[in-house]
Amino acid sequence: MIPVNEPLLDGNEKKYLMECIDTGWISSEGPFVKEFEEKFSAKVGRKYGIAVCNGSAALDVAVAALGLKEGDEVIIPTFTIISCANAIIRAGAIPVLIDSDPYTWNMDVNQIESRITPKTRAIMVVHIYGLPVDMDPVMRIAKKYGLKIIEDAAEAHGQTYKRKPCGSFGDISVFSFYPNKHVTTGEGGMVVTDNEELAERCRSLRNLCFQANRRFVHEEMGWNFRMTNLQAAIGLAQLERLDEFVIKKRNMGKYYTQKLKDIESIQLPLEKTSYADNIYWVYGIVLNDQLNFDADKMMKHLAAKNIGTRPFFYPMHEQPVFHKMGLFVNESYPVAEIISRKGFYVPSGLTLTEAQMDEVVKVIKEELN
Ligand SMILES: *Cc1c(COP(=O)(O)O)cnc(C)c1O
Repeated sequence: MIPVNEPLLDGNEKKYLMECIDTGWISSEGPFVKEFEEKFSAKVGRKYGIAVCNGSAALDVAVAALGLKEGDEVIIPTFTIISCANAIIRAGAIPVLIDSDPYTWNMDVNQIESRITPKTRAIMVVHIYGLPVDMDPVMRIAKKYGLKIIEDAAEAHGQTYKRKPCGSFGDISVFSFYPNKHVTTGEGGMVVTDNEELAERCRSLRNLCFQANRRFVHEEMGWNFRMTNLQAAIGLAQLERLDEFVIKKRNMGKYYTQKLKDIESIQLPLEKTSYADNIYWVYGIVLNDQLNFDADKMMKHLAAKNIGTRPFFYPMHEQPVFHKMGLFVNESYPVAEIISRKGFYVPSGLTLTEAQMDEVVKVIKEELN
């Protein structure tokens, strides 16, 4: 089986992990956590980093730290992971959806302004699959209407927008370190910001809102979302190789594109836009409409030939869980509906070999014929 993703752990991961074992520092109190926070946040151009137990938790903390209230509206892409909408709804706020751009698969920033109401408080941008959201228009709109920006850079470690790191655009930004991300800690995430007060709120929220002077007396509800020293040890070793990993992913993407570009019945990821070169977090393929089958069927065929795939995101406005809550009923976002049914991604991990990519390409070509 060619796995859809496999992490690459052959740097200092083992050495740093052994240090945790040898010193007995395995909890979140261990020294690697701070070091990882400092080095990772510096790498993405931020003053403060708050490590947490996963990327979804990072979104929960980021949204809560902004102090959104009941009835506040937050604009988000419908084509994203459910963690984005969950964080907003759990804070009592309302997600307001935007359709995707058919080529970058990111939120179509031209649609944002039409969705703004007097209740809008924030825009949550999500960089999807390796290309960043077009940030200049987003920043302009946020400034014009006095909105906060929450930036989900969980798929964009090492990516830039006009040479500025992804993760440096939000009032508050988040990363995930799940094993398919460019930097992994097994499970893990981080909130980053330049705002000291927000950083302090995030630290408190991740740690049950314990108070410094009266530890077990709480003024607010938080979570235990702490990252362990073991996770941070792996993260530090991974971070040392981020630049190398990004080059590797770019080469993977270019290789696939070169081999697949002559097939007319499929749409491939853009290699670049005017503001960024793709880092191919995953290598996505969208079947053209004239093909009379969906990604589901294609993925089953590939699985039968031992090739791992994953479907594209399923849009927020079609999620049964949100319909049951009375959200997004009868809303329609046509681009997201098409790409979610026709899109899937092929093996794109850091251990992927050229021979494996050749095999993936060969099988795709056979199936399409
Ligand atoms: C992976 C991911 C997350 C969530 O991260 P977890 O660590 O899996 O909770 C959030 N947003 C996006 C865009 C992601 O790709």
